[in-house]
Amino acid sequence: MNRYKWGHSRRFNDYPNYFRRLFGQRIQKLSINAGFTCPNRDGTAGHGGCTYCNNDAFSPPYCRPKYSMDYQIRQGIDFLQKRYKADKFLAYFQNYSNTYASLDKLKGIYNQALRYPEIVGLVIGTRPDVIDDEKLAYFQELSGEKYVILEYGIESCYNTTLGHINRGHSFEQSKEAIERTASFGIKTGAHIMFGLPGETRRMMLDEAEILNELPLNNIKFHQLQIMKDTVMGKEYLQNPDKFRLFEVDEYIEFIIDFTERLNPDFVIERFSGEAPSQYVLAPDWGIRSHEVMSRIEKRMRERNTWQGRLFEG
Ligand code: SF4
Repeated sequence: MNRYKWGHSRRFNDYPNYFRRLFGQRIQKLSINAGFTCPNRDGTAGHGGCTYCNNDAFSPPYCRPKYSMDYQIRQGIDFLQKRYKADKFLAYFQNYSNTYASLDKLKGIYNQALRYPEIVGLVIGTRPDVIDDEKLAYFQELSGEKYVILEYGIESCYNTTLGHINRGHSFEQSKEAIERTASFGIKTGAHIMFGLPGETRRMMLDEAEILNELPLNNIKFHQLQIMKDTVMGKEYLQNPDKFRLFEVDEYIEFIIDFTERLNPDFVIERFSGEAPSQYVLAPDWGIRSHEVMSRIEKRMRERNTWQGRLFEG
């Protein structure tokens, strides 16, 4: 049996095995919505938010700011214990920008989550323009005791695309924030979207080399899904020909081509996203993301390829 540099036979450096190596057991992510907002919505960085953003599309129903954090944590633990028999969790702050508050407020929220013995760490999703050295020093201190990762929404390495989707920050800001975070010894993650308007297949593949230069620990990918009740949703309904959405088979071949170029040290958390169908305008792949994952792995075996095969680090 082939064993790759990440120590097992899956053809990419996968997330569950990474946590088994780190904690010696299965770890489950537990979503919490702590009621943050976003500078790209309140006018600080922009108005109206990113054109594709619909935060309701990726939260479990109990994960709403109207519920206390303690309620959300208890509900999440109950649900995940029953469903996955898990007993250790990472508190996952995904909605909006989870470092967009005063340091005191951040301390209150994150220290509260870490009081639960079942919670062994924090996964904090944020933007590059709402982090500073004071906050990084706090996360550095926490990192000494717990697993802590700051996940940045890069989305695209191209500023033209970022302008078009109204991200309200540049790629250079993402790069700087990730490098600064890593310089504090804090783990870093990134989120990238494929299929954004104006990007060619070549441009997207070239992003692998750009990302390989960053001090990233984890990375996750997402095909563009156009959500209802978003600016992009309206653009799509008015002019669908402006969009070139991936079909599932095409995406599978693309993401494998991309993964072959990717630094094998990056842990891949996921290859594709799946929002509940009631939120999605297009595309309709008609299969669940775990099936997409199985098909990616099957095609990797058929193509006899693996993460980093073409990486020239
Ligand atoms: S995607 Fe994130 S950064 Fe963009 S508007 Fe939504 S919450 Fe804000």
